[in-house]
Amino acid sequence: MRQLIVDLNAVAHNLGAIRERVHGAKVMAVVKADAYGHGMIPVAKRLEQEGVDYFGVADLGEAVELRQAGISTPILAWLHAADEDFRRATEFNVEVGINSEAQLNTALTTAAVQGKPLRLHLKVDTGLNRNGASVDEWPGLVSAAKSAAETGHVVIAGVFSHLSSTSTTDDAQQIVRFEMATSLARVMGLEFEMRHLTASDGTFNYPHAAYEMVRIGIALYGLSPFSDNRAADYDLIPAMTVKSEVVHVKRVPDNTPVGYGYEHRTVGESSLALVPIGYAEGLPRNASPRAKVKINGRTYRISSRIAMDQFVVDVGDDDVKIGDEVLIFGNPAAGAPSADELANAARSINYEIVTRMGGRLERSYLGEAGGS
Ligand SMILES: *Cc1c(COP(=O)(O)O)cnc(C)c1O
Repeated sequence: MRQLIVDLNAVAHNLGAIRERVHGAKVMAVVKADAYGHGMIPVAKRLEQEGVDYFGVADLGEAVELRQAGISTPILAWLHAADEDFRRATEFNVEVGINSEAQLNTALTTAAVQGKPLRLHLKVDTGLNRNGASVDEWPGLVSAAKSAAETGHVVIAGVFSHLSSTSTTDDAQQIVRFEMATSLARVMGLEFEMRHLTASDGTFNYPHAAYEMVRIGIALYGLSPFSDNRAADYDLIPAMTVKSEVVHVKRVPDNTPVGYGYEHRTVGESSLALVPIGYAEGLPRNASPRAKVKINGRTYRISSRIAMDQFVVDVGDDDVKIGDEVLIFGNPAAGAPSADELANAARSINYEIVTRMGGRLERSYLGEAGGS
């Protein structure tokens, strides 16, 4: 009665659409946070079958899960615990992001003890002011990394940073700082294989900043990283569909109040349809009463407050019956409301909508790796 369907053929299509834009740069598929709610393992298995170059995750726990599921593509993890010791990284052959000399030393010590070289990506903070070495700390980190690499215990695989996506001016400034930081590292004699800066938005906006690799999350799932552009503008196909069914219909008189807080009253005699999805499934409570759903190809506003398990739709005199399909969001080309519309109704972004879908939704996949 509550379904979440992930179309992995759409994910594969989106990878192709991104590859066409980046002119040979490697593509890192960002599959953190359970692949933005799409299911990390099935998504990664299909992308590995499609020959994706890298996987990106936030932390080592996610990377280990990928390896344990049989993923053999390179993986980078970039957000570490305060006392992370990196043993899991060497054991499971995971590359790690390094944000400071202290973290570099921990990684070096671990790799030396384990006797297995660890591949590192140095993170320079070019203005997001979140993770990474500040521009002031950068020369110190570079020279420490150079010495560390000389021991043979670590390899500097890459240098990376992340844009704030505030404005083209701010991003341009970060791009300049990134080029200065990578040039400085080279001038200081540090050898590394790749530079990577842009996520989905930067990859679409600044094709000249693709360097040797781009890190793509939201676009792989078929959603636009921008609030003012649609996925279809970038040849992306939304991969996630959430749907339910009408489980109860009742005919009520004029001026009947509906749901907690009586936020809606019928105008004239009307039919109320009950849909068994609520905030326990990740439907944002504050999306009502702006959110719209589709029943039998028609668009309706959610009439009641979204409750933990359910909501009500006033369908007026329309012929809506028990068992009729209710599309919560999915691919607009297939007639569903978009995740963006639901995000707008909740004053949020499509990233948050898909990532937190869960609860009692029954998951299924189309186009799983190894299948037909
Ligand atoms: C999440 C993340 C990405 C992917 O961002 P999208 O906007 O989803 O493409 C890339 N790089 C880093 C460092 C991230 O944390």
